[in-house]
Amino acid sequence: MKVKFKNIGKKYEGREDFTLRNINLDIEDKEFCVILGPSGCGKTTLLRMVAGLNSITEGDLLFDGLRVNKVAPKDRDIAMVFQSYALYPHMTVYENMAFSLSMRKERKKVIHDRVMEAAEVLQIKDYLYSKPSDISGGQRQRVALGRAMVRKPSVFLMDEPLSNLDAKLREHMRVELVRLHKTLGTTSIYVTHDQTEAMTMATKIVLMNDGKIQQAGKPEEFYNKPHNIFVAKFIGSPTMNLIKGKMSNGMFISDDKVIKIKPNNDDLEFLKPYENKSVTVGLRPERFTSGKGLEDTFECTIDVIEMLGKEKILYTKTKTDKDIIISTPGHHVYNEGERHSFGFDLSAIHFFDTETEIRIN
Ligand code: ATP
Repeated sequence: MKVKFKNIGKKYEGREDFTLRNINLDIEDKEFCVILGPSGCGKTTLLRMVAGLNSITEGDLLFDGLRVNKVAPKDRDIAMVFQSYALYPHMTVYENMAFSLSMRKERKKVIHDRVMEAAEVLQIKDYLYSKPSDISGGQRQRVALGRAMVRKPSVFLMDEPLSNLDAKLREHMRVELVRLHKTLGTTSIYVTHDQTEAMTMATKIVLMNDGKIQQAGKPEEFYNKPHNIFVAKFIGSPTMNLIKGKMSNGMFISDDKVIKIKPNNDDLEFLKPYENKSVTVGLRPERFTSGKGLEDTFECTIDVIEMLGKEKILYTKTKTDKDIIISTPGHHVYNEGERHSFGFDLSAIHFFDTETEIRIN
């Protein structure tokens, strides 16, 4: 099912400002759409509107072209999985999964078939007759998914469903959710503040801040072409380095004059109107270069090294004390206190208008 937001706004009663404004978004059939953003940006509000649990102040919400603003939650053909799975503790896994269908007075055979089908896909057949208290957190999460699956909804809504799990299990469940989505093909809307979940699971990411959509698109677009400085800083770890400066005779010169970069020809075209104007350069920590014979280089002193195994993160300072974070392969040898020259991968430089914070190239 397709879900369309047309100029949607939300103002909670008793609040002065709108929590959501001008939300225009198309979620295509079979899409796995991740709504991403910092705490309080309005992600849950958006999801609850789709569920019918929040009223819509302005605009239209369309399911396959039909306006559903006033349609009751039970008539929307959606299923929601929350952060707290809220399984009924006195019921077995089987009964938990069968519950909503029993309430709908489905036939026993239909209920049994649906529960067994979901249990097969989720690999929870072995503990169908256990109580939630006797299974692990990851298993409980699967049961919560199963409970939503048996209803065969047209849209799955998930609100931070993995945030109660430990890091290893989260990693595992991420892959399982992607597999599950491939198998079922159900349109899914998933809320999280975790950029890794968004990058790894989404077919479309919608990054929000302060009640507005900052960028919507494929994960790789967020990494390669962030629309603005907020997006650039939100996606990628460690965070992108941002250096303020101005364009002078086709060269970028940082405000402290320490960093000079000659952009490649493609970027120069975009930068033409910025001659003598303020621009901000963005460089991902993993896109610096090192070695002899580099043209555009700068010197820095390594302050702190974080060894993560496959990579080493260098927290460095330029001679004007500007912080630059550089990520290098884990086997490269560096020591704290050393001075080094690094260059820039000219094909991976992001340029932003310093005033509007919008991407230039
Ligand atoms: P988090 O990741 O912390 O859950 P979120 O991005 O999901 O945040 P929302 O829960 O949608 O954000 O909240 C967005 C804003 O709306 C917040 O400022 C919140 O205080 C406000 N808000 C949420 N629910 C209500 C409500 N029922 N009444 C009034 N204001 C609300």
